[in-house]
Amino acid sequence: MFRSLHMKLVLILILLIVSVMAVMGTFLVNSVGSYYLNDFETQIESVMTENGSETLRSLEQAAAGEDGPARILEILSAYDGRLGIDTYRTYAVLDGTGAFVAGRNEAFASELTRTPNIITAMNGAVGSHNTTIDSYMDYAIPLSLDEDGKDPRYIVYFFDDKRETRDLSWNFFGIVLKAMTFGLLVAVFLSFLLSKTITTPIENIRTRAQMVASGDFSHRLEIQSNDEIGELTATFNHMADRLHDTLEEVAGERDKLGTMFLHMADGVSAFSADGKLVQMNPAAERLLGVPYREDEHFNDLFEGIEIPTPQKAGKQGFVQMEMERQGRTLSVLFAPYGAGENERGIVAVIHDITEQRKLDDSRREFIANVSHELRTPLTNIKSYTETLLDAAGDLPADTEVKFLSVIAGETDRMTRIVKDLLTLSKLDCGKMDLHFHRFSMQHMLEGVYNAMALEAENNGLTLKLRLAGEMPVMNGDRERLEQVVINILSNAVKYTPRGGHIELSAAPYDSTHVKIAVRDDGMGIPEADQPRLFERFYRVDKARSRAKGGSGLGLAIAKEMVEAHRGTISLTSKLDVGTTFTIILPTNLPADADGMV
Ligand code: ADP
Repeated sequence: MFRSLHMKLVLILILLIVSVMAVMGTFLVNSVGSYYLNDFETQIESVMTENGSETLRSLEQAAAGEDGPARILEILSAYDGRLGIDTYRTYAVLDGTGAFVAGRNEAFASELTRTPNIITAMNGAVGSHNTTIDSYMDYAIPLSLDEDGKDPRYIVYFFDDKRETRDLSWNFFGIVLKAMTFGLLVAVFLSFLLSKTITTPIENIRTRAQMVASGDFSHRLEIQSNDEIGELTATFNHMADRLHDTLEEVAGERDKLGTMFLHMADGVSAFSADGKLVQMNPAAERLLGVPYREDEHFNDLFEGIEIPTPQKAGKQGFVQMEMERQGRTLSVLFAPYGAGENERGIVAVIHDITEQRKLDDSRREFIANVSHELRTPLTNIKSYTETLLDAAGDLPADTEVKFLSVIAGETDRMTRIVKDLLTLSKLDCGKMDLHFHRFSMQHMLEGVYNAMALEAENNGLTLKLRLAGEMPVMNGDRERLEQVVINILSNAVKYTPRGGHIELSAAPYDSTHVKIAVRDDGMGIPEADQPRLFERFYRVDKARSRAKGGSGLGLAIAKEMVEAHRGTISLTSKLDVGTTFTIILPTNLPADADGMV
């Protein structure tokens, strides 16, 4: 209870009042004592020194004469009033040894003791030394001394038992006590009121601080005064506002980081220094193929890998390694974090590099393919040229012509490959200039059919054109699409043995698409090769393809071109039964300009 500021303030005020009253009381009682002591001495001295010490001289004469004590008492009795003689104060005549001889009050003889002042008088000096703490006050005057100024014949002795002073002091003490009690009551009441004005705002600040600590920032404190407490209230309000802003900022940042952590494509998992799993995002669960579990350990997730220490991480601050998980290639970066012994741990950032690896592989494969495809014709050209040069003029004319036509054929093949590569690279970079115009699908297919019919016939094949339903007029790059269909038809011609059948057909697919199909009953394509058939340089039978003048790029270009028209190309094939390529094209693409092509 006394620990509250309110009670402390009340207590301080009460102690203050009590100590002030006590000091005042002591001072008053003391003052009464010294006043009476002064008054006692002044009264005696004024009587003795009156009219040039006439009283003292009379007393000396009386002491020297006959019947001294009675004379002395007689002289003094004239001054009873001025000497303040009453029941508490009296006087007596003592002899030179300090013994009672006569007195105003005979009973005093029994009370008389030899006080220091009497002893002083016995030695010839006036004994007037008194203190406020003594229980009496006295005054002793020696009379009729001998020639040496000693051994008085009589001593006039005044004595006051201080009872009046004590009574008055007690009275004062009672008054002070009453005043103190009343003052205390007033002090308690006032201190309650006063301390409330100090403690209420502090109480409010405390309540608000508790609310702030529990995250409630909704209340502001009212500033009720301009003093230090008012300033404290304003400062507290400001501090709470700043804290609120900072907390909101931190929460925003945490939210942002949390969302990033949750949705990022890279996996992130954190472990404590002893390898316990602390956190793991969904991407890490997916990449490692393990759901988040609190009791999971580093070694369970990364089997056979030692927890990298900061020493191992070295200057760059991390250790990187690759691993295979669920058929995918992962690059994992282990970075130790934290400086203190207890907050130390390790973060693992997991990046799926499977696609990158595939891309790298296919790029490497592509370069190897290009080099290979170009080297073969170049080798041929070089060897035929060298033979021609070495045997210049010696070879028969028809052999020379044969050699030269081989060289021309190889050059054509190289040119075709380079052209196809250029077309593909333009398609890759989106730099292929496609000219979209309105054209009749029927006209285009009839044109292709006419162009290919002779070639098919030359290869002992039957080529048919079948157009079902009403052919749409569509928008597209007629020339490029024509090239695509010719490419597929030439493949059918190339890979169908003599006596085989090829059919070029087309029909509306739905209201906005047209379907073109090229079907043959040729050698077919093994199922295992079908998914890779549209890859660059992919060929089922390399030797046969080369022999037929193919580059392995035709279907890749066809696919890119159809996709540039927002269409699809697919195939169904069975080995030794035949192959069907199907192209579906939208007919309602926007045209570059009006007019038919
Ligand atoms: P190529 O220039 O070698 O013909 P393509 O990209 O046009 O290259 O064709 C890729 C491969 O697909 C060919 O090498 C061939 O093995 C196979 N192929 C394409 N069309 C047919 C078909 N109609 N019948 C059988 N195999 C085919």
